[in-house]
Amino acid sequence: MAEILTYIEIEENNVLEASYALISGIKKANNETVSGVIVLHPEFILNDEIKNNLKKFGLDKLYILKSDKPFFDKNEEPFLISGLIKNVNPEIFILLSTTAGREIAPVIASILDTGLTADCTKIEIEKEEDKYKLISTRPTFGGKLMASIICKKYPQMATVRVGTFKKEEINNETMETVEFNFPSIMNLKSEIITYKKDEKNEFINFQNAKMVFAGGLGLKNKENFEKLKLLCEKTGAIMGATRKAVDKGLVDKKYQIGQTGSSTTPEIYVAFGISGAIHHIMGMENSKKIIAINSDKNAPIFKYSDIGYIEDAAKVLDELLNSLN
Ligand SMILES: Cc1cc2nc3c(=O)[nH]c(=O)nc-3n(C[C@H](O)[C@H](O)[C@H](O)COP(=O)(O)OP(=O)(O)OC[C@H]3O[C@@H](n4cnc5c(N)ncnc54)[C@H](O)[C@@H]3O)c2cc1C
Repeated sequence: MAEILTYIEIEENNVLEASYALISGIKKANNETVSGVIVLHPEFILNDEIKNNLKKFGLDKLYILKSDKPFFDKNEEPFLISGLIKNVNPEIFILLSTTAGREIAPVIASILDTGLTADCTKIEIEKEEDKYKLISTRPTFGGKLMASIICKKYPQMATVRVGTFKKEEINNETMETVEFNFPSIMNLKSEIITYKKDEKNEFINFQNAKMVFAGGLGLKNKENFEKLKLLCEKTGAIMGATRKAVDKGLVDKKYQIGQTGSSTTPEIYVAFGISGAIHHIMGMENSKKIIAINSDKNAPIFKYSDIGYIEDAAKVLDELLNSLN
C-alpha cells in the first residue's frame, strides 16, 4: 500500500512540537495513512506519553529505528532512514526544514537517488489511481515568485518550513508500531567515541517560543544586544537575531533566525532594527503578530508587520526596559 512517511524530530528528549504539526497537517489535508520514522539515540526514552501524542496528532504507523552504537552518531541517521525507506518503499517522505531536517534530507535524497524540494511553504498531495503525487510549493527569485515542483522519482521528498502546518488533534484509534534494529552498516570516516555538551553553544528552543524579540543591524552594538537580552529575561521572551548582526559579532550564531538559522512561529515577534530581507522573513513570517521598529519608513519589514513603529530601535528598547523597572 502506498505510504506517506514523515520524519519525527527529537529535541532535548522530546518530540518537536512542529513534528506533531507536520503529522496532523498532512493527515487532516489528505485523510490518508501517515507514518513516521523516529531514530532513537541512547538517552531518548520513547515513553507512552509520546506514543499517545503521536497517535493523538494523527500518526497511523510508527517506525522506530535503533542503531547498535553506544553513542548516537548524527552522521549515521540518513543511512538508517534510507535503509528503512528501501524496505518499506514510501511514495512520499516529508521532513521539516529545521537544522536537522536540512542536514539529513539531502543526504537521504542522494543515497536514494531521488529529488528533494527544500524549504516548502505549501504541500499538496494528489492521488492518481493508487499513486500519490506530491506538489511542493516554495518561494523562488528572492520571494518574488512561488514555484510548484513535482518530483518524478520515488520517494518524492520535501522539507517543509516550521509553521506551514498547525498542530491539531485527530485522535486516531490505533497506531501500529514497527521496530527496526539496524546494525551499523556503513563505514563512516569518523566514529564518535565519547561526547561533551557544548555549554557555550547551548541550543535555543525557538519552536515553543511564545514571544521572540529579535535584533538586527539597526541595534548597532553589543551593548544594545545585551539590553535586548535583559528585556527578554524580564518578559520571558526568547532573543533572536539577523545574520548580519551575527556576522558583525554583535550576537551569537545560535540566535540567528531565517533561511540559514532557526525558524520560529511565536504569538508575538518583535523586530528591532531589522530590514526584512527575505532570508530573515523565511524564518519568522508565520508568527501570529509581527511588530517592527525601524527608523526607515520604507523598510521591507513593514510589509510583513501587523504593527510598525518608525523609531530608533535602541530608544524603544530603553523605554521598554525603563517601563519594567
Ligand atoms: C543564502 C543566504 C542566506 C541568508 N540567511 C539569513 C538568515 O538565516 N537570517 C538572516 O537574518 N539573514 C540571512 N541572510 C542575510 C539577509 O539577506 C540580510 O542581509 C539580513 O537579514 C539583514 O540583516 P539586518 O536586517 O540586520 O540588516 P540590514 O539589512 O542592514 O538592515 C538594518 C535595518 O536597520 C534599520 N535601522 C538602522 N538604524 C536604525 C535605528 N537606529 N533604529 C531602527 N532601525 C534602524 C535600517 O533602516 C535597516 O532596515 C542570508 C543571505 C543569504 C544570501
